[in-house]
Amino acid sequence: MSAVDAELLTRLLALRAAWRSHERWSSARIAAQQMEAFQRLRSYAVARSPFYRERYAGLEEAPLAALPPVTKDELMDRFDEVVTAPSLRLYDIEEHLHRIVEDDADPSVPWRGRWWVAASAGTTGRRGIFIWDHREWAAVLASYTRALSWGGILSRVRRPVRAAMVTTRRPSHQSAIISATFNSLLFPTLRLDASDSPADLAARLGAFQPDLLVGFPSALRPLAMEQLAGRLNIAPTAVLSASEVLGVPESRDIEAAWGVPPVDLYATTETACIASTCTSGSRHVYEDLVIVEPVDADYRPVPPGITGERILVTVLFSRTLPLIRYEMSDCVRLGESGCPCGRSFRILEGVEGRAEDVLRLPAAGGIVAVHPNVFHEVLEEAPVTGWQVVQREDGLDLLVAGAPLGTDLQGLRDAIAQRLTEQGVVGTPVRIFPVHEVPRTPLGKAKLVRGLHP
Ligand SMILES: [Zn+2]
Repeated sequence: MSAVDAELLTRLLALRAAWRSHERWSSARIAAQQMEAFQRLRSYAVARSPFYRERYAGLEEAPLAALPPVTKDELMDRFDEVVTAPSLRLYDIEEHLHRIVEDDADPSVPWRGRWWVAASAGTTGRRGIFIWDHREWAAVLASYTRALSWGGILSRVRRPVRAAMVTTRRPSHQSAIISATFNSLLFPTLRLDASDSPADLAARLGAFQPDLLVGFPSALRPLAMEQLAGRLNIAPTAVLSASEVLGVPESRDIEAAWGVPPVDLYATTETACIASTCTSGSRHVYEDLVIVEPVDADYRPVPPGITGERILVTVLFSRTLPLIRYEMSDCVRLGESGCPCGRSFRILEGVEGRAEDVLRLPAAGGIVAVHPNVFHEVLEEAPVTGWQVVQREDGLDLLVAGAPLGTDLQGLRDAIAQRLTEQGVVGTPVRIFPVHEVPRTPLGKAKLVRGLHP
């Protein structure tokens, strides 16, 4: 193990130990700690980042809710002024990312010996570049190991864990960097690409025999089908779903295949892990690491139980690239606190995809916004392994994968058309096409809804 790895591991274990005590904090204590950590972060940002100094002029003592949100476009446009380390230039970082992708380099090796860099998936249009030093990177890693321990994974396997990650092998993606880092620090980790065929993935997984299976739910479900059909034979102790919304059918098929409900992990490149499920099945927000504010279209806070249009996140451990009220297009619904597991962190009731997944379709009086749930409700009950709705100029194409011969595709089409009519949609023909598998983004994600305008 290299000196860098040894230092990372030491920090990671120290954070894990320190964070365990946070889980039983009272709500008042959580709120007080959040405010204190936010104030430290803002002071740091104002002192070292020209962007934040300018942005918060006169707001140095203002409450969090009074600070203007920051968008990804602003962050990328003014990256060199946002970062708190003056030696960092976006141009150099982009060049480094380009090179490691070209060379398929080991992404766990820090750039210039001290920085870990990732590009965000770009599902929301513009790609973002994010950077962490060794302290921050230890926190990112520790947030993911928290998800593993909350899911009961680390305590159930009595020998060194073997992990397989079915996400992306692209070395600029955070999940690839994390699996490579875990491989060198913690346990053997097999990195697979979700865009490989289920048969190929099954062969490699069968040879590796993971204790822990991690992946996009759109990749895990076909693997569960392979297992149920007898073409895959692995016995993971735990299955962890990440990066996409975990639906009821994925969850059901994963449990049927491997006998355990999947741990649902809600994470983004920007924030690391934001929430994950405990063994009682509740998804708790990591309130000691990140402040999550669901807001409506006018940036007004929405109360628990109501789904916001977007979220503002404040990443309390961020320092190199401070993220304070950073805007993301995820639609989430917060709940209250209280869970049989005893953890006091607030529950995240719903993660309903991204605002880009909402289609804008013609209606009698103009345009109607159609939420992806309209498609989920019909297609989740259908005998398919994957689906994708693609908006075209002249209607919607519905791609369905894995439908058995004799499936009533016309009936499915009619059901979707009927639901759209109920939503007030007019003049939008729906066509259905069986496909071998749904197209994935360059990072291997299978978007459920692809609108005309990203
Ligand atoms: Zn719980």
